[in-house]
Amino acid sequence: MVKRAFKYRFYPSPEQAAELARTFGCVRLVYNMALQARTEAWTLRQERVNYNATSAMLTAWKKTEELAFLNEVSSVPLQQALRHLQVAFTNFFAKRARYPTFKSRKRSRRSAEYTTSAFRWRDGRLTLAKMDAPLDIVWSRPLPEGASPSTVTVSQDSAGRWFVSLLCEDRVEPVPATGVVGVDAGLDSLLTLSTGEKITNPKHERRDRAALARAQRNLARKEKGSANRAKARLKVARVHARIADRRRDHLHKLTTRLVRENQTIVIEDLTARNMLRNHNLARAVSDAAWRQFRTMLEYKTEWHGRTLVVVDRWFPSSKLCSACGALAARMPLHVRSWTCRCRQTHDRDVNAARNILAEGLSVIACGGGVRPQRESSRTRRSPMKQEPQRATAGIPAFRRGEDVNGPPSRRAGCPGGVLPA
Ligand SMILES: [Zn+2]
Repeated sequence: MVKRAFKYRFYPSPEQAAELARTFGCVRLVYNMALQARTEAWTLRQERVNYNATSAMLTAWKKTEELAFLNEVSSVPLQQALRHLQVAFTNFFAKRARYPTFKSRKRSRRSAEYTTSAFRWRDGRLTLAKMDAPLDIVWSRPLPEGASPSTVTVSQDSAGRWFVSLLCEDRVEPVPATGVVGVDAGLDSLLTLSTGEKITNPKHERRDRAALARAQRNLARKEKGSANRAKARLKVARVHARIADRRRDHLHKLTTRLVRENQTIVIEDLTARNMLRNHNLARAVSDAAWRQFRTMLEYKTEWHGRTLVVVDRWFPSSKLCSACGALAARMPLHVRSWTCRCRQTHDRDVNAARNILAEGLSVIACGGGVRPQRESSRTRRSPMKQEPQRATAGIPAFRRGEDVNGPPSRRAGCPGGVLPA
């Protein structure tokens, strides 16, 4: 059994929309005020304020005249906002994330989280606290049989669409798999697999991008504060949303297939590489898409009992010959294929994917360095915020002054090195 979120669109009545908009505003305000209080306590008095203390503050705020309106919305999403802030601080103190930032009215995601005490789930109908009627949800796919949500998150995207996400227990049928695969984020194609397969961008990506550029030019021409500008902005948001939807869909299909076919999947930690490389990479696989890909792999491998290995971010995957382990001196970005002195000719990305796979397998063989997977789907930690891999096994030999001319499996200095498939 795993916890799994099921997300649907819904259409609120005008009263429900108003109630939710009020709730989003209060959630944002409470989050920001608590963040302010915690920041002040720390910078002025070197005091750490925990969740319980912010919870007590919330109670006090509700009693003041100017913040009495906080009582008008359900108290649960406000409490949840404080919990989210607590998670943000925990990640910050564990050096997994930057210092929490204020939520912005325009830029931040509008959302509110309800736990069981704040909604009613009956006969497949969901009614939130402070509402009389159930939400008009479009059940685009069925919930698991007999499922009952433990947490409900309502959100509205920048294109104005409303979504509700239901966290339910779901059963995952075990499917055995024996494959191993390394994945490289490429330049020409979205991803390259160690099997030689290249995965292209979503089908409509190019056309969508052209439409986006058009909508953005149109927006730039509109006068600030005008009604036409607001319309043009919504148009831009809609195109963005369409691109994001198609990309998510594409990545879901891809990650599901990878997890179904393989027992072990090895990817590279791209946190720093994105910054080092030029902007081509940013265009081919945006930060957001890679993060999404990795998050999906993280929870899907966990569901299906697969192993996901994230290899060291400084590992020179493109420069290393996957056949003999020699290190090429330079590998400029325009070089798409190259021939090693062992006479093996490599496609740049396939070679990188093979190296990533070999590196991941040697990390496993050494018994260390396998990145801990997410604690649960409830923590919603950004995967990019996890601690960098520090295991010795993940550090290429050349950085430790060892001979790099041995076979790839030996370069991590691991006696039990596994040869690449
Ligand atoms: Zn070679």
